Amino acid sequence: MSENKKVYFFSVKGSEGNKDMKDLLGGKGANMAEMANLGVPVPPGFTIATTVCKDFYENNGGMPENVQLQIDEHLERLETEQGTKLGDSQDPLLVSVRSGAAQSLPGMMDTVLNLGLNDVTVEALAKKSNNERFAWDAYRRFCQMFGDVVMNVEHHEFEKILDAVKESKGVEYDTELTTKDLKELVSKYKELIKEKAGELFPQDPKEQLKMAIEAVFKSWNNERAILYRKINNIHGLLGTAVNVQAMVFGNMGETSGTGVCFTRNPATGENKFYGEYLMNAQGEDVVAGIRTPQKISQLKEVMPECYEELVSIYKKLEQHYTDMQDMEFTIQEGKLFMLQTRTGKRTTKAALKIVVDMVGEGLIDKKTAVMRINPNSLDQLLHPMFKVEAKKQATILTTGLPASPGAAVGKIIFDSEEAAEKKILGEEVILVRIETSPEDLIGMNAAQGILTQRGGMTSHAAVVARGMGKCCISGCKDIKIDYQEETLTIGDKVFKKFDFISLDGSTGEVLEGNINTEEASLSGDFATLMDWADEFRTMNVRTNADTSKDALQAISFGAEGIGLCRTEHMFFEGDRIKAMREMIVANSLEDRKKALAKIKPYQKEDFKGLFKAMGDKPVTIRLLDPPLHEFLPHEEVEQKEIAGELGITLEQLREKMNSLVEVNPMLGHRGCRLGITYPEITEMQTEAIIEAALEVNQEKGLNIVPEIMIPLVGNVEEFRNQSKVVKETANKIIGDANLKYVVGTMIEVPRGALTADEIAEEAEFFSFGTNDLTQMTLGFSRDDVGKFIPDYLNKGILKDDPFQKLDQTGVGQLVEIAVNKGRATRKDIKLGICGEHGGEPSSIEFCHKQGLNYVSCSPYRIPIARLAAAQAAIKNN
Ligand code: PEP
Ligand code: MG
Repeated sequence: MSENKKVYFFSVKGSEGNKDMKDLLGGKGANMAEMANLGVPVPPGFTIATTVCKDFYENNGGMPENVQLQIDEHLERLETEQGTKLGDSQDPLLVSVRSGAAQSLPGMMDTVLNLGLNDVTVEALAKKSNNERFAWDAYRRFCQMFGDVVMNVEHHEFEKILDAVKESKGVEYDTELTTKDLKELVSKYKELIKEKAGELFPQDPKEQLKMAIEAVFKSWNNERAILYRKINNIHGLLGTAVNVQAMVFGNMGETSGTGVCFTRNPATGENKFYGEYLMNAQGEDVVAGIRTPQKISQLKEVMPECYEELVSIYKKLEQHYTDMQDMEFTIQEGKLFMLQTRTGKRTTKAALKIVVDMVGEGLIDKKTAVMRINPNSLDQLLHPMFKVEAKKQATILTTGLPASPGAAVGKIIFDSEEAAEKKILGEEVILVRIETSPEDLIGMNAAQGILTQRGGMTSHAAVVARGMGKCCISGCKDIKIDYQEETLTIGDKVFKKFDFISLDGSTGEVLEGNINTEEASLSGDFATLMDWADEFRTMNVRTNADTSKDALQAISFGAEGIGLCRTEHMFFEGDRIKAMREMIVANSLEDRKKALAKIKPYQKEDFKGLFKAMGDKPVTIRLLDPPLHEFLPHEEVEQKEIAGELGITLEQLREKMNSLVEVNPMLGHRGCRLGITYPEITEMQTEAIIEAALEVNQEKGLNIVPEIMIPLVGNVEEFRNQSKVVKETANKIIGDANLKYVVGTMIEVPRGALTADEIAEEAEFFSFGTNDLTQMTLGFSRDDVGKFIPDYLNKGILKDDPFQKLDQTGVGQLVEIAVNKGRATRKDIKLGICGEHGGEPSSIEFCHKQGLNYVSCSPYRIPIARLAAAQAAIKNN
């Protein structure tokens, strides 16, 4: 195709484009050409390429001369094919001018219909159609659309005039207006345009066409379209194409009509023709919802021949495109025309049913089915959801970060203990906190959902909530929480304890009151698709789980092991936290060991639970990671209580707490640094792990090989120090018994990645902790990013939140270095990822390319990870 060719004809007699030319012709133009090529009846026309949109802007909003020449040539060709002429006083050609980019921006750009009408051609149309009212109705619609879209007179100004005329005639509906009323409207519209635009409504159809094409190009950069592209992450398109097409009318009388239909049900996926239509109507009437459309099956009774033809066309199109199609049609005086076909949008449930059915029908293969489902969309199926109607009517109070999806409804509670008490009494609550700390686990567990003012997508609240599959909105900057008064203030509304609110964790919206929800259910198609995905993927999928309950949930979603058990999460409840606190305030090794001896039985029981839940599947257990002060209480009342329990004074407790305070705890005394200072903690945890494995192996006849993981290693000597403690402790217990175990490390400190060759001398496996690796590489505090990441995203400084999508350019380099250096030292070192990115599709593809053995993510992301890993394998192998 010549580079200078900018305009492409389409007609059932032959088209210059086809469906594979979407980038150039936009979706609408390419598919119109394709339908015409297939012999499907489409009104002829031509498409001005998307590249012209770019030229148009570079030309300061002027049409390049060579393009205008091509438009004129194609218009002539259209006139010849139709046997009519634009502006002809006897038999005028009328056209529509529509936008259409390579990706659909539904309703965001502009369209002009009925172009070519003026004071003369309207009379010709009246005569030709033998329907004066129809002709004047078409003219008044054209004046309004043209005035609004092309001449920038506001839509509501036209509506005001229409309403006034209807009122003066005493009628309710547009359809009740007479020809005389419509003539009056046209003249009032023309006056309005003259007054507001300072120009006359153009009577020359060629001038109308030129102006309309330019207006559609301009609509590419209207506010709506820009925002839609931003929200939907649509980048890199050239612009919109413009389609100029012979008009067909659905409003020419009772044998005319217009409608929208889908080859399968877009809500359920059922393989049944689905759609709506209106007789004697133009497309905009269906959208406006003034009259209630009929079900498509009804058309069979009204116009059986058209219906049969439509059925054979939809079947042909679906076979041809091998996907569910969304189509628009118009019937003009008993003759059917197709105006659009495109891949239909659908719910996730429908998407799964459609691909599974299509494989069964032999229309597509399993690989195509697996590639066609967006992994992130599976989230919809795994959490409760708001009923659509209820959500539509809800009042949105504010929006925070969509930290963990799902819908949650409950009474506001500000205190974690109280949330747990209410739960026991059968109440549903929403835990509202400025931020959460590990102490809030009990409340988070009890609540339906969690709302926090501070914190990013990997803040404590977000990570824990996702792990539990619980709805959470974090970083909700605009709310004010007063713990004393027990109030939540959003804008000028003040909510008290026990008031109802609802959270949409998928969008981050906080909603007023008690919105109705429904439980999500997994259908058989979902399981089928997951099985197919497993046939293609090469990476294993493990879960991050700290309890046997989470582990069992993860197994039900297909987890093949535990990639990360955060042992600190085991210390937060009841007597355990007491023993932990004793250990922290202990002033001597002896006292500390006494306290650790109290903790050990709990740990051992937990590990046994995990091993039993996982059976033969691998389990990676990480030694204690967070700074110790996280386990001590922050509120005075609690401090007093605890000092009493520990048999020390409040002052002594405070003194201890002060000694633990860190300016920057995330870079402080945590991870292996704790074990280096207090090797007895490492010893106790190792004993608990090894004894648990020995006992479960014996009880269940299993052959568990515990994987013990040392966190936050940046220097091989740190690893050596801790590995020695682990091995000496383990070997002492194992003695002659038959138990293998491995000791590996997290790679989450940049220096650890850079010196991975040295670390691999000692470590038997690596697991990339990309939460910390991102924090330390970018220098962004995980717990504070909620404050500024939104600005970075809005201002285009970052395209994505690096704590959600792995920063492949930066952090990715460290992963790659560590993979290469690790493998150079230890060829078959097992490599995995357990940061939050392990459940994010683009990061999973990166892990596949790096040759990682597994990804590990929270239980509710397991299906997403399985599918994403399969897609990565298909794309890259
Ligand atoms: C990580 O840093 O990526 C990780 C998994 O550890 P945590 O989130 O517990 O710091
Ligand atoms: Mg970490």
